[in-house]
Amino acid sequence: MSKLTHICTSIFTVMSQMATEHNAINLSQGFPNFPVDKRLSDIFARLASENVHQYSPMSGYPPLLEKIAGLTQQSYRRIVNHKSEILITAGATEGIFATIQALVNTNDEVIILDPSYDCYEAPILLSNAKPIRVALNDDFTPNWENINSATNENTKLIMINNPHNPTGKTWTSADFDQLEKLVDSFPNLFIFSDEVYEYITFEQTHISIHNRQKLWNRSITVSSFGKSFHITGWKIGYVIAPEHLMKEIKKVHQFLVFSVNSISQVAISEYLDIVDVYSLGNFYQEKRDFFRNLLKETKLQLLPCEGTYFQVASYANISSEDDMTFTKRLVTEFGVAAIPISPFYAGGKDTKCIRFCFAKDDATLTQAAERLIKL
Ligand code: PMP
Ligand code: GLN
Repeated sequence: MSKLTHICTSIFTVMSQMATEHNAINLSQGFPNFPVDKRLSDIFARLASENVHQYSPMSGYPPLLEKIAGLTQQSYRRIVNHKSEILITAGATEGIFATIQALVNTNDEVIILDPSYDCYEAPILLSNAKPIRVALNDDFTPNWENINSATNENTKLIMINNPHNPTGKTWTSADFDQLEKLVDSFPNLFIFSDEVYEYITFEQTHISIHNRQKLWNRSITVSSFGKSFHITGWKIGYVIAPEHLMKEIKKVHQFLVFSVNSISQVAISEYLDIVDVYSLGNFYQEKRDFFRNLLKETKLQLLPCEGTYFQVASYANISSEDDMTFTKRLVTEFGVAAIPISPFYAGGKDTKCIRFCFAKDDATLTQAAERLIKL
């Protein structure tokens, strides 16, 4: 008997597999196709023959924890205790799973804002809790009226994702004011802030939960080195939470993975001394502008993109097919793989929009656009 009856294989897996089968250009699953920084691969290569191959401490490699504390202070002026408030996780995904399993009880409610990334729902269901899906506004800003009316004494967590996958929307200061009011009214409510694209914002600087001191004691944030250092396959990220919550999260983490692979932790720890995370926004802004410019020649209509490495486009004036059918035809007939947006909605709402990942080299983006012009 299935414990997750309506959960199926993730759309990212489905579309990447289709891309491979049809030899299509894969702009679906979000990962870069260019090489990692040579300085990072050199560190990794050197470490391969050093003594870094045994278990790291459960919470993480201590120098890495210290450097994350330094980075958090530098980026957001928040001082976190590296010994008690940071946990290295096997990607953001494990951090999300461990947090939900640790903090959410049977019959608790967890608010998810739709469209939403796919890995929030399963751990909520496995906690015998209730995902409460609340729609974002049509422009993908949070709908505070709906969020406020969906929140009650049983609401344990609200999941926020900023910058947002799939829409590229970012939160404003006014949104954080509303969030502060909400947690003031509900003393049992905690915030889970998925900030894996924190360093990939364009015209606006990223506003983090870490920028709001009032929220520190009430929130858990997750980051991903996969996104920040172009190493999605390393599956390494971290969670920051106040000690009273972190103690519980660690109890789950220690039996989920115990600790995260040691060589990556040592390599990233060294790399943090030389990398400039603040250049990432400009790097991807150039890619975004390059790609958007190419797509001007197509019939696709581009939605705004404020952060992340995803561009959403409407195909409403090309076809009336639903987004799954359209995306599958895009792979088989035009040789470009994208992600339909409907799987990000609980009810599979079809908005005639698809998502492209532009974390690709210019030649790939150019070739994809040449195919999309034929639509
Ligand atoms: N949250 C969001 C919004 C994501 O887009 C992703 C993956 N791209 C994750 C979490 C998971 O990150 P990781 O690969 O580090 O597990
Ligand atoms: N986060 C990636 C995306 O949005 C997918 C990661 C995965 O396949 N689990 O494309």
